[in-house]
Amino acid sequence: MTAHAFETVLYERPEPHIARIVMNRPEARNAQDLRMTYDLNAAMDRAAQDDEVKVVIVAGADPHFSAGHDLRDPGTLRLGRDRPAVSTWGAYDAEGAEGLFAREQEIYLQMTRRWRDLPKPTIAAVQGRCIAGGLMLAWACDLIVASEDASFVDPVVAMGVCGVEWFLHPWELGPRKAKELLFMAEAWSASEAMAFGMVNRVVPRDALADTVLGMARRIAQMPAFALKMTKEAVNRSVDAMGQRTATDTVFGLHQLCHAHNRQRFGTIVDPSGLPEAVRGKAGKR
Ligand code: ZN
Repeated sequence: MTAHAFETVLYERPEPHIARIVMNRPEARNAQDLRMTYDLNAAMDRAAQDDEVKVVIVAGADPHFSAGHDLRDPGTLRLGRDRPAVSTWGAYDAEGAEGLFAREQEIYLQMTRRWRDLPKPTIAAVQGRCIAGGLMLAWACDLIVASEDASFVDPVVAMGVCGVEWFLHPWELGPRKAKELLFMAEAWSASEAMAFGMVNRVVPRDALADTVLGMARRIAQMPAFALKMTKEAVNRSVDAMGQRTATDTVFGLHQLCHAHNRQRFGTIVDPSGLPEAVRGKAGKR
């Protein structure tokens, strides 16, 4: 197996046609700081541009898939200068709502969409906690395989914001379960997530890596161009159903919540955060 290490992400080639991208900040529960966001993007690009690679696995170093965006990240990277930008918004440091709108377009909305449209099948291997921005990353993958101990939660409403930046909840869960997930901020088990159609397979923890590798191996036997066109066919169909327009619209609502919180509390999220009772429930599983 060949491997390459980015600062926060491992890029492995376990087999000739398979790439595996592993978030590697286990001490921070693989919270995605700016370095990791751009490392993930660079690793995705590497997989996309390597003609040998036909399938991409996205995983997190044990014990958790990802705790989401790292809100304690002081922003050590200067967006648009230290790493190549994926959006054309610019003005990432502007005052008021403008700067945050541009930043979140760049590092969350546009970045996640790029990964979602990577022209090769992607499989998320999810174990442990998958929280908020972790959900966005898993959703950006074509297939999701979860271990029995995996749990999924988006507690962002408790922080005064209407869900994560790439608002796929109704598409992944259906409108009614999406509202339950968001209103109640409860963590859902892998088997519950599979019942809603959000997860493809649930396997024992010690079988996760081999199951995903086996699925990748099978997919890699298909013709590369047919795989690419099939992914494109499904994604463009979902776009035609309005997903892209809907996520753009909700991104605006998300920014309105940030602006409201900043006016009201001086920070982009409601500092009262998750009540203890809810926090206990969210962390239960
Ligand atoms: Zn945000």
